Amino acid sequence: MNKNYLANEIVRLVESLSKLPGIGKTTASRLALYLMKKPSSLSVEIAKSLVDARRKVTTCPTCNDFTFDNKCSCLDSSRDQKILCVVENTIDLISIENSGEYNGQYHILQGLLSISQGINPEDLKIDHLINRIQNSSFKEIILATDPTSDGEFTAQYIHEKIKDHCPLISRIAIGIPIGSEVNYTDKNTLAKSLSDRKKM
Ligand SMILES: [Zn+2]
Repeated sequence: MNKNYLANEIVRLVESLSKLPGIGKTTASRLALYLMKKPSSLSVEIAKSLVDARRKVTTCPTCNDFTFDNKCSCLDSSRDQKILCVVENTIDLISIENSGEYNGQYHILQGLLSISQGINPEDLKIDHLINRIQNSSFKEIILATDPTSDGEFTAQYIHEKIKDHCPLISRIAIGIPIGSEVNYTDKNTLAKSLSDRKKM
């Protein structure tokens, strides 16, 4: 981008936006110019929601999900305490909830292991998950990461680490096409892939 044509403030905004995943310099420039063109109330609204969310939302020390006011849904006693489903993120959790096939506990990894992107077990706090499993008495752990190469790699890695700490470890896969993502799978297919889960 030719900086001579853009105010420094806009250049800085483009640089900030392009730090987001999936947003290259071109998209960042388009978004920045869009915001400049629209009434300033839109920019204020976005900035305020961002600051509010970062200030008020924390990570649950038990399930690693994002939570507000420490009122995490993992504290809900009506849910089965003996089964744990490991998912990549909250969007996958919501997809599984919408399938209506599951009423146990969740553990949110907040990502997947990835050699290509340099995401390691420390980045996903996998030790935290292992500690949780060692200090609980789950009868089953379902590994519900995507059937992509990173999702499979993550599931295999976790399986290796926890196999001596739980009597049954299962994997969803049947029904979800290889290479697809849990959150893009329709709820009937997802329900079937949960009910047809296979022992690892
Ligand atoms: Zn929680």
